[in-house]
Amino acid sequence: MKMSNLYAPTLKEDPAEAELASHRLMLRAGMIRKQAAGLYSYLPLAWRSLRKIEDIVRDEMDAAGGQELLMPIMVDAQVWRESGRYNVYGPELMRISDRHEREFVLGPTHEETVTDLIKNELKSYKQLPVNLYQIQDKFRDEMRPRFGLMRGREFIMKDGYSFNATQESLQETYDDMKQAYANICERCGLKALPVVADSGQIGGDTSVEFMALADAGEAALVYCDACGYAADDEAASTQVAVTEGPGDGTLQKVHTPGLTTIKEVAEFFEFPENGTRKALALIDVEGNPVVAIVPGDHELNDCKAEHLFGEGFHLMTDEELEQYGLCKGFIGPVNLPEGIRLVCDVTLRDSKQWACGANEVDYHFTGACPGRDFEPDAWEDLITVVAGDPCPHCGAPLAGARGIEVSQVFQLGPKYSEAMGATFADENGEEKPFLMGCYGVGVSRTLAASVEQHHDENGIIWPVSIAPYEVSIMPLDPTIPECAEVCDRLTAELCEAGIEVIVDDRDIRPGVKFADNDLMGFPYQIVLGKRGLKNGTVELKDRATGEREDVAIDEVASKVA
Ligand code: ATP
Ligand code: MG
Ligand code: MG
Ligand code: MG
Repeated sequence: MKMSNLYAPTLKEDPAEAELASHRLMLRAGMIRKQAAGLYSYLPLAWRSLRKIEDIVRDEMDAAGGQELLMPIMVDAQVWRESGRYNVYGPELMRISDRHEREFVLGPTHEETVTDLIKNELKSYKQLPVNLYQIQDKFRDEMRPRFGLMRGREFIMKDGYSFNATQESLQETYDDMKQAYANICERCGLKALPVVADSGQIGGDTSVEFMALADAGEAALVYCDACGYAADDEAASTQVAVTEGPGDGTLQKVHTPGLTTIKEVAEFFEFPENGTRKALALIDVEGNPVVAIVPGDHELNDCKAEHLFGEGFHLMTDEELEQYGLCKGFIGPVNLPEGIRLVCDVTLRDSKQWACGANEVDYHFTGACPGRDFEPDAWEDLITVVAGDPCPHCGAPLAGARGIEVSQVFQLGPKYSEAMGATFADENGEEKPFLMGCYGVGVSRTLAASVEQHHDENGIIWPVSIAPYEVSIMPLDPTIPECAEVCDRLTAELCEAGIEVIVDDRDIRPGVKFADNDLMGFPYQIVLGKRGLKNGTVELKDRATGEREDVAIDEVASKVA
């Protein structure tokens, strides 16, 4: 490829509208252009990188048993009505109608479409599991489209869906997808953490978000370098209450055979008579959430109940409080109806938080959370783990960072199949709704996240795996015959070795060439100068380290391969 033919309109000045490095640099490098808010054209350089990300995604999906297909972007609103999401999805859903006034949506995600697709086609457990994916433009009428490719209204996503017969099978596919997603991040050169977005009833996770670490990220994270624990600042709070303690006195695991009711638990742990119970969660024998929180005087809402304890929990109404013998600002133990189990109890003593959870049969996790003076009006203080706190798993100090959500895996269970009547016959011939998982990678967001992690004041620094071209060759004076000859020879050799080369053949000042090549971020840059050529050498520059060395012309190909 010749730079003189490349369509990459670069900008000298920083565009005023761009706050983030990725947005600014991709505009300046002539990689993207805005059509309207949240709508971007991917110019040739960006498109090459995007296709490389897509190929990595394909490779990992196929290796993990995924099958690629392509569904329509425009979807009959009818299936969204069937799932019940047409009305609850809100204004982010792009709704359109055709000339016959039939309603459609532009898919923001495709659970409905894919469930409708396999319904009545997959009929038996013998055909399962099936794992389907596509790479496609998605549409979301984001309230605030911004930051270039980071939050667009039309963006590229890999969305995948699995159909499984049993929970074990779903868990297996989910775990495979999680591993594939970790591989994708690594192969794209992204430093990312798998953050539990949703913990299951019985420990374990049912959703994980992969967060690329970057100051520009919207999410605040805590993570532990020692054991790999990671959580966003809201999910972290749940972990304190219900997960295994570090054994360093922060949270202890206590063997409590036969303890089931709040009364027994409270007596066993000698919960104080004058303590105030701030929060508790109850589940029935099958593990279904019953109710969540004793609100006391705190400003809580259902959203926080879900954050604390997981999906399905809600804030207790006054009637429910009464039903369990509780009242607002409740003090002391209570009796629980038969079949109801306590999973989490947060009680205060001496202005310190006591947490007690029983998410494992015959065990409780309990203890004081040190260093946490309780502010009666600041619920967040009570539930948040922050950088510097001990890791709830191993006790090592937690680090803080910001993260960009680049992908997410999710166990949906029968949510959509049930609503849409998509069933299969199990081993006993019984009709069951499919258990589903959904798995999304933000392909265009991954590109932006990569630039956030890999740039300096001069421009982008592409990881080789997703660079639009791996090597650029800059003949400083293409009019000298020898220079042109070496340039052609090197280009041919590198191409032969499967390396993608762009030649900056433009008749411009060397300084401008250097600046543009740095801005566009090609990982290896080869400078053909008059002096070197006399000695049979070229200058090889590593964009990431800035190191330059003189390399014999014959050795260039083996150096960059
Ligand atoms: P966010 O929390 O950032 O709004 P999301 O949780 O709504 O993202 P998902 O529904 O999980 O997004 O979609 C899967 C992936 O698609 C996300 O992990 C993200 O990488 C990407 N994505 C979502 N919304 C956008 C967007 N508006 N622009 C670009 N990529 C997006
Ligand atoms: Mg969103
Ligand atoms: Mg999200
Ligand atoms: Mg998400």
